Amino acid sequence: MTSYDMLLLRFGEITIKGKNRSRFEKAALAHVKSLLKPYPATKVIREYGRIYVELHGEPAREVSESLKHVFGITSISPVKVSPSRLEDIISAAKEFVGSVPADRHIPFKVNARRVWKEFPYGSQEMNRLVGGPILQAAPGLKVDVHHPELELRVEIREQGTYLYSEVIPAAGGFPLGTNGKAMLLLSGGIDSPVAGWSAMRRGLEIECVHFHSYPFTSKKAEEKVIELAKVLSRYAGQVKLHLVPFTEIQTSLAGTGQDNLIITLMRRSMLRIASLLAEKNGALALVTGDSLGQVASQTLPSMNVIGRATELPLLRPLVMSDKDEIISLAKRIGTFDLSILPYEDCCTLFVPKSPTTNPNLRIIEKIEAGLNGLAEQIETAVRDTETLIIKPHEEVVRSSPDDISSGNMAGAGTIDNNWF
Ligand code: ATP
Ligand code: MG
Repeated sequence: MTSYDMLLLRFGEITIKGKNRSRFEKAALAHVKSLLKPYPATKVIREYGRIYVELHGEPAREVSESLKHVFGITSISPVKVSPSRLEDIISAAKEFVGSVPADRHIPFKVNARRVWKEFPYGSQEMNRLVGGPILQAAPGLKVDVHHPELELRVEIREQGTYLYSEVIPAAGGFPLGTNGKAMLLLSGGIDSPVAGWSAMRRGLEIECVHFHSYPFTSKKAEEKVIELAKVLSRYAGQVKLHLVPFTEIQTSLAGTGQDNLIITLMRRSMLRIASLLAEKNGALALVTGDSLGQVASQTLPSMNVIGRATELPLLRPLVMSDKDEIISLAKRIGTFDLSILPYEDCCTLFVPKSPTTNPNLRIIEKIEAGLNGLAEQIETAVRDTETLIIKPHEEVVRSSPDDISSGNMAGAGTIDNNWF
């Protein structure tokens, strides 16, 4: 086993092009630095299209595991660094490849690149000069330049030669916050946390809003949503969670006796409240976990009538995904086990026997107009919303909404370094 000196982080193709490159790279760099806080010996160097993390004794595996969460980074390679002298490069390469048992036949190739033009041997020449001694030292390897299982990259630079072979896939997408901010409607289900992660992966900063019907829904249900937000905060450094008291509105909607339409009515009120919170907090879109056809409220006619309750763009990252795709993503990002805990959601309390799959907008609007207190109830719910600041490894901070919204009008596309 070789010991690594550095991690090489690569940006995605899209990220490195165009005039936004520098802004993107800065945002990813801020994210990397925030995740490196538990590893104080590390040092970060930014280069065109890449970030290097010098390890100085910090554990390569553990650090790369954590940096895999940085959006905008497509892959990570642990790197061994040697002085840029032929004999040093050869001995570092031998150590890197290690002791491959002689009875193995591992297809292998050296891929050298002379970046430093003063180095006396060219790239092709280096493939041979490094490959020869390695093959002698490790008879279990056989050269296969077309389909190598082990490809040793040797990048010769003035300050040192970088040797690496492993390419670990990372989160990809756009760096956090580089596409503005959106408000995620976070239930306790499987879909909405995945939708939130997908939105973050596209460069959106998210704040979460959750509707609860306490005391009809339990504190356990609230804890579950807090835990889900905590998982999301691992990818963001921090997220805000707005907890909206929804009991009164739900009760008055239920009072209309329109059983089949209740879910449609509830969703519309949720969107109105989320839109007001979005406006207050500088978010320019709403994100939901809707997936076309999954339940009655997610048929096209339902989405149409529900979506008209807001003027903000309604982003549904999972709209065309299958449930199994969503589940496997939920497992990958670490929300699945929490999502399947059984605590009831506010919507399950009032689930009618046959919710409509084809609501009529005019009828819905008429019912809402008949509820003369609805607008006030919505405003009250926004006023009484409690906002929590959620960080991955810290106790939850509870504070009133007014303390928070004033300090958080960072415009779309900005990223606050204190934020991590
Ligand atoms: P999920 O797994 O995200 O709960 P679902 O398939 O169970 O989704 P619904 O319960 O119909 O679907 O909810 C659709 C979307 O509405 C959710 O993905 C979420 O964005 C939003 N939503 C539902 N209930 C709540 C809630 N109590 N608080 C916040 N958002 C909610
Ligand atoms: Mg749900």
